[in-house]
This record gives sequence, structure tokens and C-alpha cells, in this order.
Amino acid sequence: MRVLLVEDDDLLGDGVRAGLTLGGWTVEWLRDGGSAAAALTSDVFDAVVLDLGLPKKPGLAVLRELRGRGNGVPVLILSARDAVGERVAGLDAGADDYLVKPFDLDELGARLRALLRRAQGSAEPLLRFGDLALDPATRRVTLAGETVELGPREFALLHLLLGAAGRVVSRGRLMDSIYGWDAEVESNALEVHIHNLRKKLPSVPIRTLRGVGYQFG
Ligand code: CA
Repeated sequence: MRVLLVEDDDLLGDGVRAGLTLGGWTVEWLRDGGSAAAALTSDVFDAVVLDLGLPKKPGLAVLRELRGRGNGVPVLILSARDAVGERVAGLDAGADDYLVKPFDLDELGARLRALLRRAQGSAEPLLRFGDLALDPATRRVTLAGETVELGPREFALLHLLLGAAGRVVSRGRLMDSIYGWDAEVESNALEVHIHNLRKKLPSVPIRTLRGVGYQFG
């Protein structure tokens, strides 16, 4: 899953990026509101972690524009301890959750997973399909109760496809979600990971729609 982190504090941003990357997220980090607004217009993210005090454009303005366009991506805002009014304004402008600085990285990860679940229309923490189960918190996948060992990219792919079960997910969306902006990627990398997933999960249906993308179920 791909998260846009908008934070102008280098130390905090660095810590959050490291923590979320360790949790399996593809993290895109931007340091000002202007470039965040541009990225949110051109790119698709699974979640946004948005600081409110930002150079160039305040986080609240970024959020209002985003919701004004009908974009429903889950947004968690970060705010200073003494800024209750700011948090209220953020929630009323369409934020889904907030954390007060300083915060615990484990809590941020758990809150983002909760937001993702809701965005995928589920209250159940495990994603299931038949006898397949995926736990985003422990990053464990089981098939008929047996653990299946997946690489981080394979896990990320399965997570995205399973969360969108029944819908077609485009190739571009999958590539962005598992690699992000910075990575140098071989053109057939996605196909290789899909091939490996099918080998490890032979009873699980992953359909190829040639030239379009993939569909789970
Ligand atoms: Ca700030």
C-alpha cells in the first residue's frame, strides 16, 4: 500500500518514513503543501499522512481542495499538542483521523490500517477469501491455516488485490503501490511477482486482463 507523507520537519519525516517502510508501506514523502496538492491531483494513494503547518500551502487548504474534488482517500492529520482548534477544523474539513505530536509509530501504523479497512468497506482486521487469510498487522498470510511465506512485494501485491477483490486493479496502480516514485524497476517485475504468487497460492484466482491489469476472485 502506498502512503503520501506530507511533513516539513526533516527529523520527524525521516522517522515516520522509516517506520512506515518497515511496516510494509511504500512511502512518498513531500515537504510542502504545494507539491502535496499537485501529487494528490496526479497520483493515487491508499492513504495520506498530512501535517497541518506546512510551507507554501497549509495542510488544511490541501485537505479542503482534495475533498472538494470528491477524492475520498483516507487522511490522517498530524497536529501540535496545543492545537485543538486546528484538529477540529481538520476533522470538519474531511480528515478521517488525527495524531498529536509526538506520537508513537506503532500507533500511526495501526491507525492507518484501521483507515484502510474502512476504505475497503470492512470492519474485520483480516482480509479473507475462501480459505486464504491476510493479516495486515502481522503481515502473515495463511492458506487453509498453513502459513505461506511471501516476499514483501508479493505481500503488498496480494494485499492490494485482495482488498479490491472482484475489481480490476490497473497495472499502473499496482506498480505505483508497490514501488513508488523512486524505485528503478524492470519492466516485467510485476509479472514476475504475480507468477510467484500464483505458484505459492495455486488455488487462489488471480486473473490477468491483458494490457489492463489484474483481478482477484
Ligand atoms: Ca510542520
